[in-house]
Amino acid sequence: MTGPTVGVLALQGDVREHLRALSNLGADAVAVRRPSEVADVDGLVLPGGESTTMAKLARTFEVFEAVADRIKTGMPTFGTCAGMVLLADRLRDGAVGQETFGGLDITVRRNAFGRQVDSFEADIPFDIAEASFADPVHAVFIRAPWVEEVGEGVDVLATVATELGDRIVAVQQGPVLATSFHPEVGDDLRLHRYFLSLMIGYGR
Ligand code: GLN
Repeated sequence: MTGPTVGVLALQGDVREHLRALSNLGADAVAVRRPSEVADVDGLVLPGGESTTMAKLARTFEVFEAVADRIKTGMPTFGTCAGMVLLADRLRDGAVGQETFGGLDITVRRNAFGRQVDSFEADIPFDIAEASFADPVHAVFIRAPWVEEVGEGVDVLATVATELGDRIVAVQQGPVLATSFHPEVGDDLRLHRYFLSLMIGYGR
């Protein structure tokens, strides 16, 4: 018996960083960009990068529908930064005509922090009931989105204080996880490990 396979959508962005993090945890991690490859994985990571570019390339490679369908039918999915944008059912400050895969019942504002500061780092506590999350997560934000509204089935896992008040930067809806920041940057693997545990919990 082999363990679950986790794909990283490899159109643009932090693909290598996610593959390395997942492999370091012993996962079978593969780059995916074709519909048949999307069909074969047990979970998928949507990396940080540029959400407009990834959405366009997903159309060019004719993989858009395959990804959107699998997310909507329960595939465990982890989106970081641009990946969070791609998971949002509703988008504010998107580019004209910008598409998202959707699947997460949230409203995301793209480049939300960018109006105040382009990038920053923060230690943020996580509301995950596991001993390893007793310590805060060191988070790297780069032209990051934030979450402005969450639907009923969405759990808020983390917020960050801004001049405008607390803003939501990590959410989970069943097997779908998203962060505004880049856990693939640096060597804190707790969120990747948490995602792998969701893949096992919600496995097909
Ligand atoms: N601002 C980018 C977008 O909207 C996300 C930036 C990132 O992933 N670092 O796609």
